[in-house]
Amino acid sequence: MKFNPEQYNIKDEPMQPFIDPEEIWSFLRNAVPDKERVRAIIAKSLAKNRLSLEEVSVLLSAEDQELIEEIKQGAKTLKEKVYGNRIVLFAPLYVGNKCSNNCTYCGFRASNKDAVRKTLNDEELIHEIEALEDSGQKRLILVYGEHAQYNPEYIAHTVRLAYSVRKGNGEIRRVNINAAPLDVEGFRTVHEAGIGTYQVFQETYHPEAYKTYHLRGKKADFNYRLTSLDRAQEAGLDDVGIGVLFGLYDWKYEVMGLVRHTNHLEACYNVGPHTISFPRIKDASMLDFGHKYFVSDEDFARLIAILRLAVPYTGMILTAREPAQLRDEIMQYGVSQIDGGTKIEIGSYTNTLNHEQNLNKGQFRINDERSLNEIVDELLEKGMLPSFCTSCYRMGRTGEHFMEFSVPGFIKKFCTPNAILTLAEYLMDYAADETRQRGWEVIGDNLKTLEHEKIYSALLDRLEKVKQGERDLYF
Ligand code: SAM
Ligand code: SF4
Repeated sequence: MKFNPEQYNIKDEPMQPFIDPEEIWSFLRNAVPDKERVRAIIAKSLAKNRLSLEEVSVLLSAEDQELIEEIKQGAKTLKEKVYGNRIVLFAPLYVGNKCSNNCTYCGFRASNKDAVRKTLNDEELIHEIEALEDSGQKRLILVYGEHAQYNPEYIAHTVRLAYSVRKGNGEIRRVNINAAPLDVEGFRTVHEAGIGTYQVFQETYHPEAYKTYHLRGKKADFNYRLTSLDRAQEAGLDDVGIGVLFGLYDWKYEVMGLVRHTNHLEACYNVGPHTISFPRIKDASMLDFGHKYFVSDEDFARLIAILRLAVPYTGMILTAREPAQLRDEIMQYGVSQIDGGTKIEIGSYTNTLNHEQNLNKGQFRINDERSLNEIVDELLEKGMLPSFCTSCYRMGRTGEHFMEFSVPGFIKKFCTPNAILTLAEYLMDYAADETRQRGWEVIGDNLKTLEHEKIYSALLDRLEKVKQGERDLYF
């Protein structure tokens, strides 16, 4: 599949703002969710085509329960057909919560005097990373408030530190970032430190609504944030993650905003976002927030399914902000990555305070407190294949989700074998006994699906080596 900007009638310029609320609203106002049309759009996506803004607006306008179920079923089929049963696991690591902005929804905002401000020093950071490695994590996302101290050099330093920590067989093989937007030079600096994805969530794609939540500080500039991932691309960083904080504005408008942003990146840089995130607002210290744009669980499932169909090639991330049961249900509509064993209070992978005691040190409250092993175990029980794979990024195959999606045989050649090898490492080094047993059974089932593949004997060979104690073998 090749991107063709003309197909979406996009005439965007790199580094130039591209959101026009009237354009988005007029699509939503004029959409006619006729049954046949909705079905044709789902079929188009299942045939591995990107949907246009107009087509997405039709899916968003479908209110008939039967059609909503068909949309969800379509997303489920697409996920099964294209991505199979793998789920990639990662953990967030909050490095520092100093912040000079005042986002009204966030526990880190400058005006929150109850927040206990803390930035991990090198020694503390090393201890946190060792604790994460001890639980089996291989992929991290480092998270920072927006503060002069967290400049590109500092971020690059923490990334290098994270890669350097080795404990037993533990190591961090991919470090992603969620931090404030940088200038081109800044993105270059963190790119050189070897980061994976750089995430910047627009929070809301509606400029007027945006103003009301971001009254002062650098984040008040809507367009500077909107074009931040253009600057990342200009700096050679082509793995970027976009997101919306659902609950700030109308959710249908926001889904259109995410698709519009995707169109922009495709049109200007020939590469879409590596990941899309869809956090919903959660309770935070001193949070005083209206419910006008609250997104219900049903609508949340719907919007995830529509995003899956709209941008079938992109990784989709669902975090521990959501409760375990809901995560389990919603995952099937197209999620490819989840966090496990998450703690978001600064220093909490090593300290033993409980969540109540920690609330003033956290950005918001999480709702899935399962350990990494519990999550791995439950995924295995459902026959899914937990993966810690970082191979594409390290082999220079950037845009891997796109390749999984568009290159025939890519998943059988790379993704499933690498998921098996990284799961085998986890089972050998970190898993509880029962999980280990379940894990080998799931590996056995997945091996059967590869029996006729060229890679099969090389995979068996590497699996044997993992059993003998070799680590970090991948395709
Ligand atoms: N300070 C940087 C920024 O604002 O871009 C780094 C990211 S912030 C620590 C991570 C993300 O958490 C924000 O972009 C926002 O979407 C989300 N967030 C903030 N407050 C939240 C809340 N109360 N509930 C859920 N997510 C929240
Ligand atoms: Fe600061 Fe980010 Fe929280 Fe806003 S969302 S207050 S910028 S940490």
